[in-house]
Amino acid sequence: MSETPTMPTASSDAQRKQKEFLWPCASTYYEEPLVLERGEGMWVFDDKGNRYLDCFGGVLTVSVGHANERVNRAIVDQLGRISHTSTLYLNEQVTELAETIARITPGRLSKTYFTNSGTEADETAVVLARLYTGRQEIIALRHAYHGRSMLAMSAGGHASWRHGGTAVAGFKHAHAPYCYRCPFNATYPDCGMKCATDVEELIQTTTDGQIAGFIAEPILGVGGFITPPKEYFSEVVSIIRRYGGIFIADEVQTGWGRTGDRWCGIEHWDVEPDVMTFAKGMANGSPIGATTARPEIADAYPGLTFSTFGGNPVTAAAARATIRVIEEDDLPRNAAVMGAHLRQGLEALKEKYPVIGDVRGMGLMQAIECVEDRTTKVPAPKAVLKVFEETKKRGVLIGKGGLYGNVIRLGPPLIASRSDIDHLLEVLDQAFAVA
Ligand code: PMP
Repeated sequence: MSETPTMPTASSDAQRKQKEFLWPCASTYYEEPLVLERGEGMWVFDDKGNRYLDCFGGVLTVSVGHANERVNRAIVDQLGRISHTSTLYLNEQVTELAETIARITPGRLSKTYFTNSGTEADETAVVLARLYTGRQEIIALRHAYHGRSMLAMSAGGHASWRHGGTAVAGFKHAHAPYCYRCPFNATYPDCGMKCATDVEELIQTTTDGQIAGFIAEPILGVGGFITPPKEYFSEVVSIIRRYGGIFIADEVQTGWGRTGDRWCGIEHWDVEPDVMTFAKGMANGSPIGATTARPEIADAYPGLTFSTFGGNPVTAAAARATIRVIEEDDLPRNAAVMGAHLRQGLEALKEKYPVIGDVRGMGLMQAIECVEDRTTKVPAPKAVLKVFEETKKRGVLIGKGGLYGNVIRLGPPLIASRSDIDHLLEVLDQAFAVA
């Protein structure tokens, strides 16, 4: 046997250091984690020179493509001017961004508080609901995800994402509008929207009847792109308002054109939120969170509160440039057209492969739920893992989700072209064929 030592590759080095220096809870995709070095548009490149079509966009975050020149230029320009001010001083990037958000968000939402992440945006929204109403209890959804702080974990509806006892009190979890696995064993549209109407009994039986609000994702992202029926939000929000609560739409995944033809996901449902939260795709990967509210609600938050990095001029410049690209290139339209094309292809795969139990989503936010058997709907997480490895081998990155880990999530950058989608569909077809 040769005694020549093999030089460690960059990836084996990164893997060793991952084990030694990073917390294992920050788990990575794939049997052998990918070490990404570079990105360009729809593509990312690993340390071995392999390229991959990125159909998950770092969890629906790279909205206008990797290393987008217009966004990068705005970041570099701002870095050359001033990179930090704190909210103790005003900066034009931040005030201009806030004005843009007021223009883009539906209805009367007009005032924004900036933070660094979706978690903080949601945390801020819940505190705001409590301050505005003077009440404590919040209705959230089973299968929801709102972040990793104690409060956000308590708002979430997944055991696997809740740790440390999730001790923040005051959250009551309603049944999710999860038609494929209807909690009432009913079938839409003859179900009478029980998942929505049941919220009234939830309030009457598990709260003191005095709620502060309701927090929900228009499409439950981590939950596996659970897409509520079109009457769901108007029904449930009318109950919430009858009991004095406000509606917080968590747009962390669904915002900024992702769902097609609209800036915000909730605009596809006939209801106006009182508060909205944003992060992820808003700045194409720069860390930013935003909580936007109707003015009288925002004004109910008394001083003092402070976020050192919230309202940072560099991330605000990145967000402004990202929004400009989305607007100039009409990417919400592209998301609708390419999303429809993707959906059609996924429906065809469903015809072909019995392991695909459900296909759902909106725009460029489409999911495939895998099952052992279409009648019993027993989740098939192993099939998802196999499809993961097979698509990786063929140079395509996809995402995963769902309470049972059996949902493939597809959320490519909004710049995806028809040939990108065709390539994704072809590779998925090959992967399912051997899964
Ligand atoms: N809300 C939703 C809907 C999310 O998907 C996420 C992140 N997956 C969050 C909140 C938390 O965002 P962050 O990871 O930026 O804290």
